[in-house]
Amino acid sequence: MVEGSGKRTRPNILVTGTPGTGKTTLSSSLAEATQLRHINVGDLVKEKNLHDGWDDELDCFVLNEDLVCDELEDVMEEGGNIVDYHGCDFFPERWFDCVVVLQTGNTVLYDRLSRRGYNEAKLSNNVECEIFQVLLEEAKESYPEDRVVAMKSDTIEDISRNIATLTDWVRNWSSPAQS
Ligand code: ADP
Ligand code: MN
Repeated sequence: MVEGSGKRTRPNILVTGTPGTGKTTLSSSLAEATQLRHINVGDLVKEKNLHDGWDDELDCFVLNEDLVCDELEDVMEEGGNIVDYHGCDFFPERWFDCVVVLQTGNTVLYDRLSRRGYNEAKLSNNVECEIFQVLLEEAKESYPEDRVVAMKSDTIEDISRNIATLTDWVRNWSSPAQS
């Protein structure tokens, strides 16, 4: 935390989207390019046991939102984080200066997720989630609209372009309170 001011000097970015849209790929490259800290929430939940057990139907951990937010509070206050998670409605709004929603065409996404070995139920669940733009809606409902940006993530070129755009944005960012 920045002593005295309580304001971060580097931005926090949330990278969200349906599983398979490329959140982790984008976040890790962006972290390298900007020296921001990549926080993969799924990995953190597993490592620190921030969950209430296993969801058999969805085949994933039931994340404990309070434990996750408590765990991240200090580091988010400090700033300079890229948070990577397929959900966005339970984080405090004040944490993020930019919310990136990755979007992938449904046939491309289907292929990526089958390569990942998802079963049929999980496949159709996730592709449906993408078709109905569930994460974009969730982001728009949870954050001010001017902080939410949708980015296409179908190809390698899309990744490069998104990283370039976001790297520029990070370089030019200054704390709203200081400008
Ligand atoms: P997420 O973290 O959103 O689940 P990942 O970053 O793990 O997604 O990406 C899933 C797979 O898709 C990986 O094999 C990755 O290399 C590939 N991928 C991600 N984004 C793209 C893209 N824009 N173009 C081509 N392949 C991509
Ligand atoms: Mn991921």
